[in-house]
Amino acid sequence: MADCTFCKIYESKQGIIYDSEHFFAQFDKFPVTPGHAEVIPKRHVASLFELTEKEWANLQPAISGVVKVIEATNFEELYQRLIDKPLNDKSVDFCKKMLDHVGTYKKPDAYNIGINEAEAAGRTVHHLHVHIIPRFYGDVEDYIGGVRHIIPGMGNYRK
Ligand SMILES: [Zn+2]
Repeated sequence: MADCTFCKIYESKQGIIYDSEHFFAQFDKFPVTPGHAEVIPKRHVASLFELTEKEWANLQPAISGVVKVIEATNFEELYQRLIDKPLNDKSVDFCKKMLDHVGTYKKPDAYNIGINEAEAAGRTVHHLHVHIIPRFYGDVEDYIGGVRHIIPGMGNYRK
């Protein structure tokens, strides 16, 4: 689709870190943690539920493949490069934060993998993308609950 951010990225071939039959991936320009990447279908579909059976099957190796790329990446070099050639002013701030992040100089300890499935769940670019967010001991005060923290105050059910 002509005015779609992700379709344009794939057409430009800029910053593609993984490329398979049905999916590609890039590092997020507004990273939540070092190595934050997105797995994106090449076909313009908004929803996970629009994937064909073949695309679904291709998603699993895509996620595993992107995790391997993340684990082989030098995050300090990555964010320095994204600061030197930024997408915009906001992306510079996000990438600068990564250089001070506890995870920048090590490999991920864990991952949160997730989809904002439609607008009320937080989707802003309406082309499906699976967030792969590396996690590191010490990146938050209390990691219990993980993705449950999307609703503030409801994450930790042990407290
Ligand atoms: Zn698109």
